Amino acid sequence: MSSTDHVQYANQTAKSITPIPLSSKPSFGAPEDPENSWTRSGQGASKTACIRTFGCQMNVHDSDRMRRMILDAGYAEVNRYEDADIVVLNTCYVRENAVDRVRGHLGELSRLKREGRVKKFALTGCIGASGESRDLQRQFGIDLVLGTHNTYELAEFVGLPGMEETHTPELPGTEGEHSAFVTIMTGCNYKCSYCVVPSVRGRMSCRPMENIVDEVHGLVSTGTRYVTLLGQTVDAWRESGKRFCDLLERIAEEAPRVWFTTSHPSNMEDRTLRLIGEKKTLVKKLHLPVQSGSDRMLKIMHRGYKSERYRRKIEVFRKAVPDGTLSTDIIVGHPGETEHDHEETLRLVEDCRFDSAYIFKFSPRRGTEAAELPGTPPERVVQRRFVEVLRAVEQNAFENNQKKIGSTEEIYIRYGRNPEEGNAIGETWSGHAVHVQTNAPPGTYVTARIGSAGPHVLYADPAEANSGDRAPRERPR
Ligand code: SAH
Ligand code: SF4
Repeated sequence: MSSTDHVQYANQTAKSITPIPLSSKPSFGAPEDPENSWTRSGQGASKTACIRTFGCQMNVHDSDRMRRMILDAGYAEVNRYEDADIVVLNTCYVRENAVDRVRGHLGELSRLKREGRVKKFALTGCIGASGESRDLQRQFGIDLVLGTHNTYELAEFVGLPGMEETHTPELPGTEGEHSAFVTIMTGCNYKCSYCVVPSVRGRMSCRPMENIVDEVHGLVSTGTRYVTLLGQTVDAWRESGKRFCDLLERIAEEAPRVWFTTSHPSNMEDRTLRLIGEKKTLVKKLHLPVQSGSDRMLKIMHRGYKSERYRRKIEVFRKAVPDGTLSTDIIVGHPGETEHDHEETLRLVEDCRFDSAYIFKFSPRRGTEAAELPGTPPERVVQRRFVEVLRAVEQNAFENNQKKIGSTEEIYIRYGRNPEEGNAIGETWSGHAVHVQTNAPPGTYVTARIGSAGPHVLYADPAEANSGDRAPRERPR
């Protein structure tokens, strides 16, 4: 799977990292795809560094911060471990095989260090914050282990003095890039049975609205054209009487293109769903993880809602945003999941007609409640359920995408033209991923007619460039 695809499904046996959806920055290559990794020539720098990112957008964003420190310290960024003086592995801990994968990389780095090719390497992110990190440090001779709250300590590792004050969690994303992530909250107050996030990221902490607005304003004034608001449960954001919808409205007035992820069904307000339909600058796509269609499983998972409530939210979204796209996360094979529960999930998939879904096989995580629960279905049953859910999602997605054929769309170019395939990858205002023949650079818009469609992407006819911005960036302050 290339990092330029709109990755839609995650099978824990196939790919261990959490998929990075289309909204991720093109500049950060997926770890398993070194050709697509980002290289900076580092004006005359003699020191080199390599950053590999595993996991979700929070990790991509954290890597962005660390990348700035590394560049500030005078390193040039390189793709390959063997070309790097220092290496940073920024990791994900959500599923067990994520750790297995990182072990492989740590083994290779440990060998390169023994051979004197890599000078030192660091392990950061969610695995760094986990109990397992000390064992890994001993086993592989890792030079520095950092969690998710203290990434500023990397400054010393790369030879920058006194960075604690500047590299706080408030540090903005990279300015001047065409798209940027803006963290609005960290941590999570839920306790889903299967999830390690609360233990590695801590409890929810919301950034003040003015602080977020200032960052977005700064980014937009230096050329950012697409802002993604980021957090584990962004719709839980609040600040003295203000809620996520109020923040989203402000940001939608500040930036020319805005999206947000991830949302929790229990926090999602109807007025937020309506706002997506109303505001021209909001991308009309909603990622709302459901995890299961069975009320019994939702209870065991401690999700805090029933499937009926989720369906009602989707109804409101479909009505308020008729041309919008909807994606979700589903876990198959959680302990206790029966055939009946699985059928309930299939029924929900049919009813909600998702445009895409990340489907995960349950992975027991140390320290979570589900890891201790009995009744994990056998692997062959889990595999069959996985395929059944996948097929149901793909069938619906394919039918939904077919309806776009013949429409003329304004497409935001996310990834510039790939010389081999001849296509750029963009996104419509409805949130569809589109392959389009154009030389338009990332961050610009083209207008094109949709010629064909598959279950994952649309294919547009050759396109003309246009401005496409829905304009608030020009607004005087
Ligand atoms: N905060 C977000 C997502 C957190 S992790 C939310 O609550 O929706 C991203 C996704 O990984 C989850 O939605 C879930 O579907 C999946 N996931 C998390 N832990 C998992 C586990 N132990 N096994 C399998 N999938 C898991
Ligand atoms: Fe994990 Fe649940 Fe929090 Fe999402 S809401 S981060 S799945 S505990």
